[in-house]
Amino acid sequence: MMPNTTFGMILTYGDSVTTKSFAGASLTPRSIRSCHVAPGGGHYGSTRTARKVLDCGFYWPTIFRDAYQFVSTCEKCQKAGMAISRRHEMPQQPILFCEVFDVWDIDFMGPFLVSNGYSYILLAVDYAIATKTNDAKVVVDFLKSNIFCRFGVPKALISDQGNHFCNRAMSSLLHKYGVIHRIATTHYPRPMAKLREIKKTLQKMTNPSKKDWSRLLEDALWAHRTAYRTPLGMSPYGIVFGKACHLLLEIEHRAY
Ligand SMILES: [Zn+2]
Repeated sequence: MMPNTTFGMILTYGDSVTTKSFAGASLTPRSIRSCHVAPGGGHYGSTRTARKVLDCGFYWPTIFRDAYQFVSTCEKCQKAGMAISRRHEMPQQPILFCEVFDVWDIDFMGPFLVSNGYSYILLAVDYAIATKTNDAKVVVDFLKSNIFCRFGVPKALISDQGNHFCNRAMSSLLHKYGVIHRIATTHYPRPMAKLREIKKTLQKMTNPSKKDWSRLLEDALWAHRTAYRTPLGMSPYGIVFGKACHLLLEIEHRAY
């Protein structure tokens, strides 16, 4: 490998800053590409893309400018009609803060084009599964196995008034676990910003009008969980696990 200290990326783990040399300047755009386009990338705006590179432990002086240049020419972002600006990177509405996992907002997306037998996405904040139907049983099973038994019993669950959320099976489940069910209405709107954002990511990365969307769902969720959130000051992954997530970029550069 040809050392190139001028354009080398700097690994920033631990107390000491170690300079790691790479084979040339072309690797800096490659790391941005990896954190924007690759599985776990998520086609986020330039600041978030650069943050992902930073979370992987890499830094170079023009990282934010390079990310901006890369993202503003990304074909997929432009096709999806997402204007790239700083405005779109930060939620405008204030977000109510409570302890992590205390409140879950749940919703269905779809129906989409059938993909491996799946037509819907059942979404709860940062977690989602592809489902074949959108009935009460699916919701009850998902809450039990993916939410309650994994993240603990929440204080409240927010959903719309759809009959897959408001039915006897759901109320007996929520009663059993002592969870308050808050139905979102126009008087009590739900904190939609988060759901809207993940829906946007899922749509951009999986494109539900194509047949392989269910296969790409996990990658899209991974991207969402590892993207920096301004109100949190870190990624959702960071909040849950207390560390940055290892992304493909690090494996590619044997950086950990
Ligand atoms: Zn993009």
